[in-house]
Amino acid sequence: MLYDEQCNFMKFLSCCLILILLATGCGQQNTREPLSMKPDPHSFSNPNEAVVTHLHWKARVDFITKKIDAIATWTIEQKDGTTQIIFDTNDLHVEKVTLDNESTASYELAETAPNLGRALSVKIKSDTKKVSITYKTSPNGEALQWLSPQQAGSASPFLFTQSQAILARSWVPCQDSPSIRFTYDAEVTVPQGLLALMSARNPKEKNESGVYDFKMNQPIPSYLLALAVGDISFRPISNRSGVYAEPSLVDTATWEFADMEKMIEGAEQLYGNYRWEQYDVIVLPPSFPFGGMENPRLTFATPTILAGDRSLTSLIAHELAHSWSGNLVTNATWNDFWLNEGFTVYFEHRIMEKLYGKDYSEMLAMLALQSLRETIADLKNQNAYEDTKLKLNLDERNPDDGVTDIAYNKGYFFLRSIEEKFGRDKFDNFVRDYFSENAFKAMDTEGFIFFLKNYYLTRFKLTIEEDFLNGWIFTEGLPVDCPQPVSDRFDRVNEVIHKWEDTGQLDDAKTSSWSTHEWLHLLKNLPDSLTQSQMEAFDNFGKFTSSGNAEILTAWFTHTIRNGYTKADGELEDFLINTGRRKFLNPLYKELIKTPRGKEKARSIYKKARPNYHFVATNTFDKLLNE
Ligand SMILES: [Zn+2]
Repeated sequence: MLYDEQCNFMKFLSCCLILILLATGCGQQNTREPLSMKPDPHSFSNPNEAVVTHLHWKARVDFITKKIDAIATWTIEQKDGTTQIIFDTNDLHVEKVTLDNESTASYELAETAPNLGRALSVKIKSDTKKVSITYKTSPNGEALQWLSPQQAGSASPFLFTQSQAILARSWVPCQDSPSIRFTYDAEVTVPQGLLALMSARNPKEKNESGVYDFKMNQPIPSYLLALAVGDISFRPISNRSGVYAEPSLVDTATWEFADMEKMIEGAEQLYGNYRWEQYDVIVLPPSFPFGGMENPRLTFATPTILAGDRSLTSLIAHELAHSWSGNLVTNATWNDFWLNEGFTVYFEHRIMEKLYGKDYSEMLAMLALQSLRETIADLKNQNAYEDTKLKLNLDERNPDDGVTDIAYNKGYFFLRSIEEKFGRDKFDNFVRDYFSENAFKAMDTEGFIFFLKNYYLTRFKLTIEEDFLNGWIFTEGLPVDCPQPVSDRFDRVNEVIHKWEDTGQLDDAKTSSWSTHEWLHLLKNLPDSLTQSQMEAFDNFGKFTSSGNAEILTAWFTHTIRNGYTKADGELEDFLINTGRRKFLNPLYKELIKTPRGKEKARSIYKKARPNYHFVATNTFDKLLNE
């Protein structure tokens, strides 16, 4: 950790560590120097000299030119003697910069740096309170996905943003570091007949003017800035939650997410009040590259979770959990990404356990462990074993490289191992206080370790060993004492597999009560090599090729590609063209390129599919398929 010599300029930066120390009763150590913002390798901004506190964003969305015309007016605070404020930008056309009452500011855009874009340095005066930047986005802005009506599967075009990790700078010039928080308000003009939504207080219906106002009173980091524009309807689920989607989908989605209010209540009982007032979900067109994005007040979700049987809603529990882990207590840099995701997976599993029982959540944990072991093996094979440590070193790399199972599932099993080691009651107290005492602040791995050890020592007189923490956080791979989930429901699936191995018979008497998770467990535990007739038998058994469930299709297509089961080729191609979620595309393209014929096929499908994918996906697959 770096400590600043002085703490004389802003409440915002003031003394996080002292607060932690006071809150945890560790009085004698607060003679340490106060914490200032750590350098973030993925931002050019200079928050220790001048920092943003509020954004007023006035924007016009133009689907014809695929550009947003905007003025971003930032309220700032500065340290004495500061002469400039630095923003991050990427592919923005900056037209003008002014200070306070319209005095023109001199500014400089640096050369484009790989991954990071261009630093925008604005000269400020000692009394400057506001900096206004007039600019246009580029049609290829990396956060922005402009969909034609055809691509959106609708009569209207659609636009959505994906700002995490460092793409907010491609649609708003900002200090794009997760440790810098600001409130915002916005006025957004969109074509008539379309609705605009943001990660803010949102309208519930369209208006005649096409002008929408937004307000976000809770301070957020830039990666949680979000915008969606389209022909969108709303349906309430409770008085503080609801669903947005295109009109043809909104009723289906509302049915699928019927348990959302129960999830919020369950989450609050576990770890404290929901602090963002409203919790809504918007179901985006299929090209959305992630499962979900935890934009505050308005989770962005993939339509691939609409399985028709509410079996994939743990994703909603995950995004909801981010309202505490990530959105309330935020990873200080992308090297600490596991703090966002590990806590969120842990919390997600606890919500699912509370709502549907332990036998349900243990299936999720078993699937997570299997996937984690595969990821660790993969990263080892790719000479990227370093990336299996929880604390990453992504300096001079794209922070997207850190989005692997390690942050999510190794993070989960680490937290679960603390729970198992010292007991659930203690761990629940810890998590609740960790969220409340660090709310609306950034946390890095070292700060987390300090808080954890101190909490257990002062509350419970328990010492958490260095070796245990190092083994999980700063060491590659998985510790030998990793928690082992147990699932009777999966044991019954194993019985079906064993019977098939022994007799060649598939016993469908047992499958009537199976959820998606049991089917996935079956598919993930079949032998790699299957004959055509075995493939056919399994296809008849599970009706996999004709499944509408994206998780099942992905697991099944892995077998069809590997075993040359061409009967599913048409469905595979349709799936790859019509799904933009990277979690599904990744294993399938990777499986395809293992053979020269498969690689040819992958490239030909990708050519057709690429226009439907978001930058986050094309950035991955351009590299993978051109190797
Ligand atoms: Zn997450």
